Amino acid sequence: MADTIFAKIIAKQIPATIVYEDEQALAFRDIGPKAPVHILVIPKKEIARIADATAADEALLGRLLTVANEVARNEGIDKSGYRLVINNGKDAGESVPHLHVHLLGGRALTWPPG
Ligand code: 5GP
Repeated sequence: MADTIFAKIIAKQIPATIVYEDEQALAFRDIGPKAPVHILVIPKKEIARIADATAADEALLGRLLTVANEVARNEGIDKSGYRLVINNGKDAGESVPHLHVHLLGGRALTWPPG
């Protein structure tokens, strides 16, 4: 088991505000929200970052996106709009080496990101 903060959240060793869970995926509120809705959708499988995903992970990666859609609907931002973001590596600002999809919404988001 990798020793990331997200592995500990999956194992319920540290608390998080979980908004969705199934056998493959977990979604919880980001501890430092950058928008009124800021939720992280993660696989329970340990994949450090999107660059490390393989063809064997294709169904799981699709699942993360449909979970994100479902959470967006539950949060009431499916009509107003939302953004899904994956930061991969240093230049993207990746800070936790367990794959996560950011779900951001609840306000107008600027583009491009800085
Ligand atoms: P990254 O920068 O790797 O794309 O995103 C990592 C995200 O994880 C950040 O937005 C950060 O606020 C969030 N985060 C880091 N530690 C924790 C934690 O212990 N709990 C929760 N809920 N979010 C965390």
